[in-house]
Amino acid sequence: MESTTTSLKRSTSNKLFETAKTYFPGGVNSPVRAFKSVDGSPIFIKKGDGCHIWDEDGNKFIDFCCSWGPLILGHNHPKVYSGIVAALQNGASFGAPTVLENELAELILSRNPFIDKIRFVSSGTEAVMSALRLARGFTGKKKVLKFEGCYHGHVDSMLVKAGSGLATFGTSSSAGVPEEYANETLVVPLNDLDALKACFEKYSDELACAIIEPIPANNGLLLQESTFLQELRDLCTENGVLLFFDEVISGFRVGFNGAAEMLGITPDIITYGKIIGGGLPVGAYGARAEIMAHVSPDGPVYQAGTLSGNPVAMAAGIAQLTECAQPGFYEDQRERTLYFVDQINTHASSKGYNFELVTVGSIFWLSFDGKKRIRKASQIDPKMDGFRLLFNELLNRGVYLGPSGYEVGFISQAHTKEHLDVAAKAMCEALDAVFA
Ligand SMILES: *Cc1c(COP(=O)(O)O)cnc(C)c1O
Repeated sequence: MESTTTSLKRSTSNKLFETAKTYFPGGVNSPVRAFKSVDGSPIFIKKGDGCHIWDEDGNKFIDFCCSWGPLILGHNHPKVYSGIVAALQNGASFGAPTVLENELAELILSRNPFIDKIRFVSSGTEAVMSALRLARGFTGKKKVLKFEGCYHGHVDSMLVKAGSGLATFGTSSSAGVPEEYANETLVVPLNDLDALKACFEKYSDELACAIIEPIPANNGLLLQESTFLQELRDLCTENGVLLFFDEVISGFRVGFNGAAEMLGITPDIITYGKIIGGGLPVGAYGARAEIMAHVSPDGPVYQAGTLSGNPVAMAAGIAQLTECAQPGFYEDQRERTLYFVDQINTHASSKGYNFELVTVGSIFWLSFDGKKRIRKASQIDPKMDGFRLLFNELLNRGVYLGPSGYEVGFISQAHTKEHLDVAAKAMCEALDAVFA
């Protein structure tokens, strides 16, 4: 595999990044944006419309990052736009209840059989942090179980990786997280029933909850065997441990009611984020009434937020989820996604490339491990050479992916078959260049 240099004009972005580096650590406000794993420096986006984005140098791309998932209708959707403007005309924030909170809650709860009550917060991280506190407050137990390769935001107790050897105790994966916190988090591999059972045998008395991305999509797309998730559900039920589905990425993405509905598994606590806010900062957690009764002011688990339920963000969420709730929305997303994925996989397989797009719903992931079905984080080849080359070949051909090979791509309602034909052709050509 040869390295490639980009032929794009990037001088404005490069200049802006130099300035940004004087303001922000690494020049960014969230680390993956820094392009560290794909060479070069970030492209500064000027605007987006439909499935396209334009950068500050005037380049135009078909966007498969979609703000890392929130934009399931594409950029600048007219209904989301007008929802935001209408709300804004009444004021940006009050710190008091508005009818818009009721409306977004009604939209969700009237369709969702898994949760009776919901609490809106301002990010996925905040949702997870709050729901972990609730799980501990409800059960009166301290430890939480997570799975290696699942991402749950930058919550202290989730910035934890498996310890050495067979130890289940986590060690922190970030400076600034005390080992004492990390020790309250147990870490087991995904899709590994034996490890899971061993952990439950030893620690279930101390475990408040088991948190998992039911469709792990932040570290490759690690589709789990449904028997594994069902066993996890059963173990939790038998041992008085709450099952916590972190659906910040899968919620409203693989179906209106997320992975729980798709997989037919009922969790005890769910977190949402990304799509729920229509591109504005919203997160949420929900559970059955008995559990939510523990949240303040009804119960003793404290959680609050100055901008929680912000009216402008609620309006964006209402506009977006109203579209998602239309009959056939998700079937149509899936059909177009398969239309795209099949073209590329057929090409890659006819050429014998060690490459496959793995997909669920309107999510896809570029796997350079060929047809080997990868279900655990440890099975991913960490080199990512192939991704780095492909990413740059695609930029040159007008296609933008999230700048990391561990991240997934998203297809929005704005990606028509015509756009997908253009992108698939670019992807096939880029693969030819990478595997030449
Ligand atoms: C994105 C994500 C988070 C974090 O959400 P932020 O809004 O970035 O804080 C948490 N969990 C999962 C599964 C996610 O995909």
